[in-house]
Amino acid sequence: MSSMQGAILPGNSTLELKSFPIPIPGHGEVLIRMKSSTICGSDIRCIYHEHLGKGPEGYQPGMIAGHEPCGQIVETGPGCRRFRKGDRAIVYHISGCGVCNDCRRGYMISCTSEFRRAYGWQRDGGMAEFLLAEEKDLVLLPDALSYSDGAQVACGFGTVYEGLERIGISGNDAVLITGLGPVGLATAMLCRAMGAQKIFGIEVIEDRIAIAKHLGLFDAVLTAGDENVAQIRDLTGGFGTERSVDCSANNKARLTAIQATRKWGKIVFLGEGGTSEFQPSRDIIHDQKSIYGSWVTTIWRMEELVERLVRWKVRPEQLITHRFPLKDAAAAYALMASGKCGKVAVVFDEEIR
Ligand SMILES: [Zn+2]
Ligand SMILES: [Zn+2]
Repeated sequence: MSSMQGAILPGNSTLELKSFPIPIPGHGEVLIRMKSSTICGSDIRCIYHEHLGKGPEGYQPGMIAGHEPCGQIVETGPGCRRFRKGDRAIVYHISGCGVCNDCRRGYMISCTSEFRRAYGWQRDGGMAEFLLAEEKDLVLLPDALSYSDGAQVACGFGTVYEGLERIGISGNDAVLITGLGPVGLATAMLCRAMGAQKIFGIEVIEDRIAIAKHLGLFDAVLTAGDENVAQIRDLTGGFGTERSVDCSANNKARLTAIQATRKWGKIVFLGEGGTSEFQPSRDIIHDQKSIYGSWVTTIWRMEELVERLVRWKVRPEQLITHRFPLKDAAAAYALMASGKCGKVAVVFDEEIR
């Protein structure tokens, strides 16, 4: 066998399966047999409907899509120092240059070198039977986690964990989450594990409200509307939440997240795109609030996260509402684009259920 199937996104709301040669790992590289490859919202936002992005978010036409890859190493190239054949591995989805300041901090996402290439964007990603990855981009998947747990750490859960560490979450906190797609749901799971005692969600899509309620992660799930700030204050003794996380990228929802946060509270924006309009004096300065932006995570935090997921008995795969084999990847992307789902995964071998 020397060829494999891989999925590309032409940018017209379709997906094409094509035949590719199975890559041969070079120095410091590994060949991974893909087991689970989950779809991220940014695949839909930037690539699926049209190729919107430039620079780090520019998808190179013809690349195999998918930047949440997890699988098993089947071959290592010369010079690998830590990972071996048979290891289960998550791929940090940006391969940075490795020598700039951002890469040295572990934030390959922020690398601006011409040598930076993201899997599924500027180099082949996880929507294929095999993936060629650099050893330096790998995180070892603990035995207690499934490949579908690991795939979500590659982008979604890693991004959420970083954002929550940025604002700090503890048992002192009530948390508001605006936007209950997979990132919002992951936020609720991790906030609960970190000790938050009250978790509230706001969403506009009915199917997502139903999924959020079904998962039982929230103390209250509200339908997006003009009364949301008053509702959150009512649920928190009139004060608002200590922490808020925007996963919606929606202007109104972001304002709700800011205004429903109490004095001295912290807000983090994780949702990408759109705008945010607020009145600095009224909405943050006079109430001593801070707004943070957080983009993806570092590779060491991913290692920390997988260890904690095991300790907390948190299983990201619980958010997967639909699993598709690679041959049906077109249906997987169409479903994700509809928003009428939780997390959607393209799965292989034992992950097919
Ligand atoms: Zn992503
Ligand atoms: Zn770099």
